Amino acid sequence: MPEVTYFKPAGVPLAGLNEVVLSVDEYEAVRLVDLEEIGQKKAGKKMKISQPTLSRLLKSARKKISDAIINGKAIKIQGGDYKLVQIRQTRGRGLGLGRGRMRGFGAGPGGVCKCPECGYEEPQVRGQPCRSKKCPKCGALMVRALE
Ligand SMILES: [Zn+2]
Repeated sequence: MPEVTYFKPAGVPLAGLNEVVLSVDEYEAVRLVDLEEIGQKKAGKKMKISQPTLSRLLKSARKKISDAIINGKAIKIQGGDYKLVQIRQTRGRGLGLGRGRMRGFGAGPGGVCKCPECGYEEPQVRGQPCRSKKCPKCGALMVRALE
């Protein structure tokens, strides 16, 4: 699962916000094809889906993302059939290989959130991504640190 699961336009209260829901497989399709640029064939293989399915996921993901950007909607990432497969793959793959900014999977127990600005650390609360928290000392967004 991606660590960051909610994006919203700055300055708009959550209550008055429309949101688009991006499934985890749509997210993964965009991550592999648009961010890592590995090509649709390879991405489809990685996700164990056919190329037409991947292409459909990409299309709907891009549409949702552009809808959010252009119409000022929030983006929520959730669900999708791909979840279990992805977790299994991630475990076998080791840490940090070719991952972008959105790296960080699952909030296992014993994680630590660290402030990239001042180095303040605190234990991660299960199910609560570090990036959703602000450093109590300097207000920067926290990141997940490895122990
Ligand atoms: Zn700080």
